Amino acid sequence: MAALSVEDALARILDAVAPTQPELVAIDAAHRRTLAQPLAALLTQPPFDASAMDGYAVRAADVAKLPATLAVIGEAAAGHPFSGSAGAGQAVRIFTGAPLPAGTDAVVIQEDTARDGAKVTVREGRIDKGHVRHRGFDFREGETLLAAGRRIGPREVALAAAMGHGTLPVRRRPRVAILSTGDELVAPGERPGPGQIVSSNHLGVAALAEAAGAETSLLGIARDTREDLDAHFAKAQDADIIVTIGGASVGDHDLVAPVLEARGMALNFWNIAMRPGKPLMFGRLGRARVLGLPGNPVSSLICTRLFLVPLVRALLGAPAADAGAVQARAGVSLEANGPRQHYMRATSTPGSDGLAVVTPVRSQDSSLLAPLAEADCLLVRPMHAPALSAGSLVPILPLDF
Ligand code: AMP
Ligand code: MG
Repeated sequence: MAALSVEDALARILDAVAPTQPELVAIDAAHRRTLAQPLAALLTQPPFDASAMDGYAVRAADVAKLPATLAVIGEAAAGHPFSGSAGAGQAVRIFTGAPLPAGTDAVVIQEDTARDGAKVTVREGRIDKGHVRHRGFDFREGETLLAAGRRIGPREVALAAAMGHGTLPVRRRPRVAILSTGDELVAPGERPGPGQIVSSNHLGVAALAEAAGAETSLLGIARDTREDLDAHFAKAQDADIIVTIGGASVGDHDLVAPVLEARGMALNFWNIAMRPGKPLMFGRLGRARVLGLPGNPVSSLICTRLFLVPLVRALLGAPAADAGAVQARAGVSLEANGPRQHYMRATSTPGSDGLAVVTPVRSQDSSLLAPLAEADCLLVRPMHAPALSAGSLVPILPLDF
C-alpha cells in the first residue's frame, strides 16, 4: 500500500465520526469537559445597576455644578441594598457591588468628597457614569454565550456559573484503551533485566489523550505472541478508541494487525508518508477505531498529537484545530526534504520581527525522549520541500503539552 499523506490519513481517521452522547454534570465537575449544546444565559448580569466604586450615589443633576453639598440619607453595600428612594439634594453612601438606590443615577467616588456628619460635599471631579455598571452590562438572560463543542476551561466555567447554570450538558468522555506491546518491556519503576527497557510511551500517550478530553484505561503490556495480544484486546470491549503501541511495522514480531484482523478489524491503512511515525496503522473494529502507533517513543507521541488528539476532539464534537498553522523563521539553513513530511523537534527564541526563530535540536532520532523534552515545537517540513536558507518562513506546531 502506498504511503498516505498526513492530511489524507487524518481525513480517513475522522471519516464519519459521530460525537459521543451528551450527559449532565454538576458545574463544579465540568472543568475540562466539552459542551454538548450551546449555552444560553439563565440570568441577566449584573442583575441590577450596581456601583463600580466606593463613594456616594447621587442624582447627576445635583452635581452638575461643583462644589455641591447633599444630605446623606442612608447606606448601600454589596448584599445590602438601600430600600428607600433618594430625592433632589440627597445622596446615599455606597460601596462597590451595591445596587444603585432608586432616584440616583450616578456615583461620585469617595476621593472627590468631604463628609461632615449627615452631609457630604462633592468638591470636584468628573461625574462619570462609568462608575455605574448597568443591568445587563455583562450579558442578558437568553443570550447564547458559549457554543456547542466549546471546552470548559477556567473562563468558561466561571461564565457558565454566572449565567445561572448548576449543571452543564457535556459530551461523554471518549474511552481510549491503550496497550503496550513488546517482549522487551517492563512497567515504569521496574528495573529492566538483560535486553529489557521500560515502557514509557503509554504514559505519554495517556496523558496527551486525557489532556484532549478522553478517559483512558491502560491495558498493560502484551507480549509478542498472538495469544497474549488477543487476551489483552479482550479487555478493550467498551472502548471508543483502541490504541496499540509498537508491533505495527512489518517485522516478524509485529503481530498487532493480524491479531486484530482475526478479531474482525477492517484494516484501513498502515503506512503514512511522515517522519517520525511511518508505520501508523488504522482500522475499525466494531464501533471502535483502532490506532496502531509506532513503538519508538517520539513517533508514538507525535502520532498521538497529530491523529489521536483530533480524533478525541471530533468525538467530543469540538472544532478541529489546524495543526501547523503557526509561522516561524528557520534559525539555520534546512536541507531539501524527501517524500515524507518531517516533524523536526526544535527550540524557539523570539525573533526581531515578532516571529519565533526555530532551530532543530541536535538529533532527530525517533527514539530520543530527552531532545523531545528539550524542544518546544515541531518544525514541519512538507513532503519534497526545497532546501531553505536561514531566516525562511516555516510552519511549526507548538509542543503545548
Ligand atoms: P516496535 O514498533 O514494536 O518494533 O518498536 C519500535 C521501538 O520502540 C523498539 O525499540 C521498542 O523497544 C520501542 N518501544 C516499543 N514500545 C515501547 C514502549 N511502550 N515504550 C518505550 N519504547 C517502546
Ligand atoms: Mg515491538
